[in-house]
Amino acid sequence: MSTIIPGKIVLLLQKKIAFITGGGSGIGQAGAKLLAKNGAYIILTDKNKSMAMQTSQEINNNGGSSESHALDVSDNVQIDEFTLHLKKNFRKIDIVHSHAGVQIEGSLGQVNLLGIDLSWKINVASHFLIAKGLLPLMQSSGKASFIITASNSGVFLDKEMLAYTTTKHAAVAMTKQMALDYATQNIRFNVLCPGWVDTKFNDPFTRQMGGRKALLKYVQESIPMGRFATVEEIAEAILFLASDKSSFMTGQAFVVDGGESL
Ligand code: NAD
Repeated sequence: MSTIIPGKIVLLLQKKIAFITGGGSGIGQAGAKLLAKNGAYIILTDKNKSMAMQTSQEINNNGGSSESHALDVSDNVQIDEFTLHLKKNFRKIDIVHSHAGVQIEGSLGQVNLLGIDLSWKINVASHFLIAKGLLPLMQSSGKASFIITASNSGVFLDKEMLAYTTTKHAAVAMTKQMALDYATQNIRFNVLCPGWVDTKFNDPFTRQMGGRKALLKYVQESIPMGRFATVEEIAEAILFLASDKSSFMTGQAFVVDGGESL
């Protein structure tokens, strides 16, 4: 997406700096590539260092600009150290896509406290710590967009996904509250709520369903549009939330799910 000014093309995210977690594959990676294509400088992180590096190299080989780092958002100390590193090295951050998450399957009988605690740590507390750590840099931007990835499981319920739906609902509530509190500072907080996207992330649910074939049948029957989303389709929603195309939108759960939650 670009704006045409007579004589030159201005990219939608020119001069913007974007920080992404879980950007080494799937949705986070597709979002990072699209933001880069639209002119943003990408600080790409993932707990898997080599996947982060490969993605960053791909971005740079395709004319974008990025750097990569290992960052495991289940580790509070790593988050704090990394946000400190960003404060030392960057004057501002315009876009944050706090994307990494965890899915622990099961209902009350199966999920234990460790599963609940880990889900809370990654699906809620990591977004809080990142937002808190980067607040001064977003304030310096003067016009920042913070995107948390929840899920459509953050706006409706999934069978036997207690830890996941509980923490994704909490992420939606937290995003709305942060949006309310920082709207006057022009920091927008929105929460991306994808439905089924064909990535490795769904492996626990695939197991729970009884394998890939059963999953495909389920997807076909339960999603009104009858299919998975592609990561590229979700990346378009990330670009929209990151850019001025959504400049008057804050505190919203942006559901992209082929009609599943209807
Ligand atoms: P994916 O498995 O393709 O990618 C996830 C990436 O995050 C991987 O590169 C992985 O290394 C990284 N990662 C995992 N744990 C991490 C951690 N603790 N710290 C840093 N990085 C970590 O999965 P995906 O579907 O592209 O993304 C998962 C996110 O999307 C989760 O937040 C999930 O809740 C959300 N989501 C996915 C779907 C879906 O159907 N795939 C639907 C709704 C929401």
